[in-house]
Amino acid sequence: MIAQIMINTNAKELNKVFDYIVPKEMEKLISIGARVFVPFGRGKNFSEGYVLDLKENSEFANKEIAKIEDNILTDENIELAKLMAEKYFCNVSDCIRLMLPPGNTSKDLTKRIREKTAKFVYLALEPEVILSDIENNKIKSQKHIKLLKFLIENNGIEISDLEAITDVSRTIMKTLEKNGYINFKEEKVERNPLIHKDIKRDEKLNLNDEQLDAYNRIDFFIENNEFAEFLLHGITGSGKTEIYLQLIEKVLKLGKRAMVLVPEISLTPQIIDRFLARFGDCIAVLHSKLSDGERFDEWNKIKEDRAKIVIGARSAIFAPVKNLGILIIDEAHDASYKSDMTPRYHAKELARYIAKKNNFPLVLGSATPDVVDYYKAENFDKELIELNKRANDAKLPDVKIIDMRKQLAIGNRSMFSLELQEEIQKNLNQHKQTILFINRRGYSTFVMCRDCGHTMKCNSCNIALTYHSYENRLKCHYCGHEELIPKKCPECGSKNIKYFGAGTQKVESEIQKLFPNATTIRMDIDTVTKKNSHEQILNKFKNEDIDILIGTQMVAKGHHFPNVTLVGIVAADGSLNIGDYRAEERTFQTLTQVSGRAGREKEKGRVIIQTYNPDNYSIVCSQKQDYKKFYEGEIQLRKSLNYPPFCDIILIRIHSENEEKVKKISQKIYDELIKENNKNILIYKPVPSPIDKIQNVYRWRIVVKCKLNRNSLNTISKVVKKFYESRNKDVSIVVDCNPNNML
Ligand code: ADP
Ligand code: ZN
Ligand code: ZN
Repeated sequence: MIAQIMINTNAKELNKVFDYIVPKEMEKLISIGARVFVPFGRGKNFSEGYVLDLKENSEFANKEIAKIEDNILTDENIELAKLMAEKYFCNVSDCIRLMLPPGNTSKDLTKRIREKTAKFVYLALEPEVILSDIENNKIKSQKHIKLLKFLIENNGIEISDLEAITDVSRTIMKTLEKNGYINFKEEKVERNPLIHKDIKRDEKLNLNDEQLDAYNRIDFFIENNEFAEFLLHGITGSGKTEIYLQLIEKVLKLGKRAMVLVPEISLTPQIIDRFLARFGDCIAVLHSKLSDGERFDEWNKIKEDRAKIVIGARSAIFAPVKNLGILIIDEAHDASYKSDMTPRYHAKELARYIAKKNNFPLVLGSATPDVVDYYKAENFDKELIELNKRANDAKLPDVKIIDMRKQLAIGNRSMFSLELQEEIQKNLNQHKQTILFINRRGYSTFVMCRDCGHTMKCNSCNIALTYHSYENRLKCHYCGHEELIPKKCPECGSKNIKYFGAGTQKVESEIQKLFPNATTIRMDIDTVTKKNSHEQILNKFKNEDIDILIGTQMVAKGHHFPNVTLVGIVAADGSLNIGDYRAEERTFQTLTQVSGRAGREKEKGRVIIQTYNPDNYSIVCSQKQDYKKFYEGEIQLRKSLNYPPFCDIILIRIHSENEEKVKKISQKIYDELIKENNKNILIYKPVPSPIDKIQNVYRWRIVVKCKLNRNSLNTISKVVKKFYESRNKDVSIVVDCNPNNML
């Protein structure tokens, strides 16, 4: 028997299978997906590899497999990994690593996470026997008696706990073992991230008409074991989560399992608590805030079918669940479902593949769907379900748009409009809470005229130009167009042209100056790096009388604070000028989501949006949470400029520490692409990336616009392969399909 082995390596030129002989005694034990050790290359050590296929004969095989490590991967894993490697331009082994147990990818076997075990202490005799021995003075030491009496009440306790509670040393325990009173047993201990939770159980709610209709449409496919992709578009608070919960209940009743993906950032305790309240502890969670050990144990809980519901961030899509009956992606528009690292996969695409293959429905839920998804739903490529009212009759908040240009005109130079200052004061007086949001995504500032609000944009792309300090120029991230910074505003002729950019810290210090008695708490990447700090900040805000929460995107999603009645968006323009064709879409999504945090209970919420672009349609539409109107404007624009969904964007990034070389290779790749192209692909000339040097690495890129299909993938893949074969060690290239950002 011959096994086709893929070596576990990042080396691009080794992304191919090698034939190995399977020794007779291993033939019964080996399977597709097995991890093995094989002799490879010149080194004496064995290399790890994965069995991709088994066959009878081979002309090339001359070495034998040395050892089988385990059979943890399935042939479905292998099939998916192969598919991903093609689609996302990466090595098969890059994809396989995502499917292995967490903490199991290190080449150094001793560094891999394993099951955690601990010593447990048990009584070796019946309690009556021990008690009578104590009575008959066979046991005299008070310490011995104390320990045994404790064990009679608490048999089977971890040794370290026993030691801590009874203050009896291990030496004494050893003596008791020798005398035949107690035993030690090595047992598995589970690292459970939800252990500290004590959640009251709740009951399902009576669905309203809209919810019931949604439930029934999806349930039909659950009942019939059929694939369908649903876009569940419902305004914030319309009761989407309640629908998920009831669909999952149904799936579990049928003896199947459920998976729910949530954006990493909103994988807050609050959403997990709702599932715990409904389903108890048959839940496994997978996300990056868990320790490796916890993730390893959650993964095993899923593998051994002890978890019925998996809730996790993007990579949970690889969790080893069998027998799924539904897959739900909440906030499906969120950028975190797309990986920014190799393999650059999109969880939505993999979810679609898995659901189709296994015949169950996929549900994409969102208050602000991805424009591409909505377009497809409108064109009958998905089932569209819309929820138009709030489920608990909470009113949508009152949203006011404040034109910041006028603030300047009346002499207010602060970051906060007089209206926002007034509303904050009102909330402080009434002991209500406030959230202030500021979007500081993106690396570069944008350039704008302070008098008329005009932002410098590229003429042919309708994209905000980014200021590059390295060369002191304005550049377009899409077509490579560049220009000098104008001395005067091209719109109104004013010389009052400024660079903008303020973050959460600046907001916090300004608030403290204006309202010295207000208590504030800040939530952004800087403050939530520690484990559970996310949860701690939110709890602190909720329970400890903090007046104002200041934060980035993190404060926008999923939270439910009953006492928050005011949301202030300090600079709505921040996401408008990120140099990306999705700027408007992201702005609309964020504003709608942040606004949704205000007044989620009886009292109506107030939202203040500060902007220099009060007429921008994404801002205007977010005022009434009017997705439809926004979508209509946006899709027109996308069509006229040929952006997704009317094409896909493939970004080829070329990086090197050698500036000359990166330029030369980029040109070479471009020439190859032009040569291979059969006219269906639009290839832009190579240009330096918007951030053209990071840590002394020069970054160039080629933008390709086309439909992603076999033909276009082949064309690009041919050129990329040629590059890998030429073994240009000091230049690296990465291909990213529909990337999250163009930087
Ligand atoms: P979404 O996920 O769309 O934001 P949720 O499911 O969180 O909405 O629901 C918003 C609020 O409405 C929650 O407090 C929820 O308990 C409540 N709710 C949802 N469905 C119902 C229902 N059928 N009857 C009463 N209240 C409901
Ligand atoms: Zn101007
Ligand atoms: Zn351009």
